[in-house]
Amino acid sequence: MMRLVLMGPPGAGKGTQAVGLSREYGVPHISTGDMFRAAVAAGSQLGLEARRYMDAGDLVPDEVTLGIVRERLAQPDVASGFILDGFPRTIPQASGLQEALRDSNLQLDAVVLIDVPDAELVKRAVGRRVCRECGRVWHVEFNPPPGGACSCGGELIQRDDDRAETVMKRLSAYHEQTEPLKGYYASLGLLLSVDGMGGPEAVHRRVFDALGRCNSR
Ligand code: AMP
Repeated sequence: MMRLVLMGPPGAGKGTQAVGLSREYGVPHISTGDMFRAAVAAGSQLGLEARRYMDAGDLVPDEVTLGIVRERLAQPDVASGFILDGFPRTIPQASGLQEALRDSNLQLDAVVLIDVPDAELVKRAVGRRVCRECGRVWHVEFNPPPGGACSCGGELIQRDDDRAETVMKRLSAYHEQTEPLKGYYASLGLLLSVDGMGGPEAVHRRVFDALGRCNSR
């Protein structure tokens, strides 16, 4: 059983870590970014609304975001726990989450902050490429795709929100709106800070160690 929030700036590697943790703990990976991208791809009303904010590097409004998360947390597979990735991103979202969990008599086990300096995040984002077919993530410099295409043969694309100006905008949204969550979760005794520099395996070990220490507290 594990109820975890992964937080960190855009490009910190939350998604990559979430996939590994979800497998290890056998709990669903819930990414609001993925949910919004799926809605955009499906052309739903939610997608149309979310897209305006995403393309501009802004946050989707709290009520919309809380709505999809509440719905997701009501699904039966969440009974075993969850890894929340990219949510909450604002104080109102965090208190909305606390409320939703309280209503179901549940509590978070930990909030893992993956810490990476801004300069590194910009480098990571502008080189990131995503497979149009399978969603696998590559990097032109740090994890180059063999032969320029995904290993599944799919075409690689740059996410609209990974362009340089949008990345800067997302970073300032992070500093202004999401960083205050550090204090919020620290005061609840839930915050675990992990150094996010280096490759995915190194970061994974640090996350796992931090969670192990927290479990044996
Ligand atoms: P991500 O894949 O987590 O970086 O999310 C991509 C984009 O989706 C963000 O830049 C936001 O526009 C939107 N988004 C994802 N999660 C949230 C959230 N919790 N609150 C508001 N907007 C979000």
